Amino acid sequence: MTDRSQALVVFSGGQDSTTCLYWALKHFKEVHTVTFAYGQKHAVEIEAARQIAEKAGTDFHLTDITEIASTGKNSLTDRTIPMDEERPGSGWPNTFVPGRNLFFLSIAAVYARELGISDIVTGVSQTDFSGYPDCRDSFIRSLNVTLNLAMDWQFVIHTPLMWLDKAQTWALADRLGVFDIVRTETVTCYNGVPGDGCGHCPSCRLRNEGLEKYLSDRENIQLSVSGI
Ligand code: ZN
Repeated sequence: MTDRSQALVVFSGGQDSTTCLYWALKHFKEVHTVTFAYGQKHAVEIEAARQIAEKAGTDFHLTDITEIASTGKNSLTDRTIPMDEERPGSGWPNTFVPGRNLFFLSIAAVYARELGISDIVTGVSQTDFSGYPDCRDSFIRSLNVTLNLAMDWQFVIHTPLMWLDKAQTWALADRLGVFDIVRTETVTCYNGVPGDGCGHCPSCRLRNEGLEKYLSDRENIQLSVSGI
């Protein structure tokens, strides 16, 4: 039996998934999280996730998929590869972890099914500069159908951030009353620096540009996310 009052959040302890965690707490009675160790260089990310989940009153479930996720070479898990700070002229920056969201969501779905949960929440966004293929709406819709067929279960993958830019994601956190938690306690930085981060990696630049934009036009940007 599925229980529509519960949700499972794919949770990394970063800005996006923390905002999604609090979005889920607003929309579902009981919220669970699943966090993946995929060989990321900075254990501080996982520790941040653990602390935020504890503070939010949700359980914390860590799953190690390092062996699977490290099959594709990338600079987030391989210390020998210098990180691309700009997107190359063609192809993906080496911060792209091939198959990451495919693995995350597939394993999350198995775990959700075990818990009797059909609603899964993920913080992917098509609007981000990086635009990784497994963050796109078409991929999520396709995978949702595949997971339902694979497990004979009516999963619903929720993507509250899909069409939001980073300024709007800050606005959503603010509306949910967790602006300060997201700003100071999350780890989004590719160099593993909490809060405002190192300031120069692609993830920090995206996050900080969004923050500046949001703070410069707070009320209007908040209005644009009022229905979420
Ligand atoms: Zn950074």
